[in-house]
Amino acid sequence: MPLILDGNRVRDEIKSECRPRVERVLANAGRPPGLSVVLVGDNPASQVYVRSKTKTAGELGIYNETITPPASITTDELLALVNELDNRPEVDGILVQLPLPKQIDEQRILLAVSPDKDVDGFHPCNVGRLATGRPGPRSCTPAGIIELLKRYEIPIAGKQAVVVGRSDIVGKPMSFLLLQENATVTICHSKTRDLPAVCRTADILVAAIGRPAMVTADFIRPGAVVVDVGINRITDRAEAERIFDPSRLADFDKRGSLLVGDVNPVDMARISSAYTPVPGGVGPLTIAMLMKNTIESAERRTGLC
Ligand code: NAP
Repeated sequence: MPLILDGNRVRDEIKSECRPRVERVLANAGRPPGLSVVLVGDNPASQVYVRSKTKTAGELGIYNETITPPASITTDELLALVNELDNRPEVDGILVQLPLPKQIDEQRILLAVSPDKDVDGFHPCNVGRLATGRPGPRSCTPAGIIELLKRYEIPIAGKQAVVVGRSDIVGKPMSFLLLQENATVTICHSKTRDLPAVCRTADILVAAIGRPAMVTADFIRPGAVVVDVGINRITDRAEAERIFDPSRLADFDKRGSLLVGDVNPVDMARISSAYTPVPGGVGPLTIAMLMKNTIESAERRTGLC
């Protein structure tokens, strides 16, 4: 039976480690760590993500606020808002929820968040720190995956790791973090030739593609550790029948949809030695790591480390 890497369990561990650190900032600085979230417009998915982030911050005693400019905001107006937050001493972390409306120059906005308050780890300065192995905030989802692997004592050093996906948010930082842990890393993308053959070389296979159940049995070396980053909602019953074990179809009929990752769940459970389920694997870790980054920023900014 493969080991199921339980993201909810690791999230709870990380959160319980955060609580005393929040207390310590409060005791030393006379204020808790502070997180400002900028949520532009009314994208329902973004609203759900932001609510989960601020709810978790609230549970941990982190001061949090959500600023909600209208979708019609200009790049200059949003820059002014980010600069204002950057100048507020009690704000340790600034998170600009993506995606931004089309008229906004996303790169200019992300550059405007000072590297010390960049709790998403997206600023080029922090990407450079990651690439050169210097301390700094790391992109939350890949950092959470490393936490998960370490807490399950999955060896990384010397292993062959294949990351499918090269986004700035997941694929690239994931590859750098695995390299930092001394894995031998291959990065794949949509132009990679014979993707299944490359993936079959992996001791650790990370799928961050955004295509439902694209990674099937022929991609997975028997005994590999499989990390499925994808979150895709299936609403078509025929697709659900193709992807899931028949025992899951009752769930589909009840809800009208099911979540699936980028890896076929039946193949992953059959062939891997350990894997992250969807939901309940990688997903829960992202917010926990955001909290950790916010607390670390507060600790740095208040002279605790
Ligand atoms: P993204 O920016 O769309 O990047 C997708 C990557 O996959 C790209 O590098 C793309 O290659 C590659 N790709 C697409 N089709 C491919 C194919 N047929 N063969 C090989 N590579 C292919 O997506 P992302 O933001 O990295 O997110 C990836 C997935 O992770 C999504 O399902 C997203 O919802 C999920 N996600 C989950 C969390 C979490 O907390 N669990 C957080 C973030 C993202 P090119 O570069 O060549 O186009």
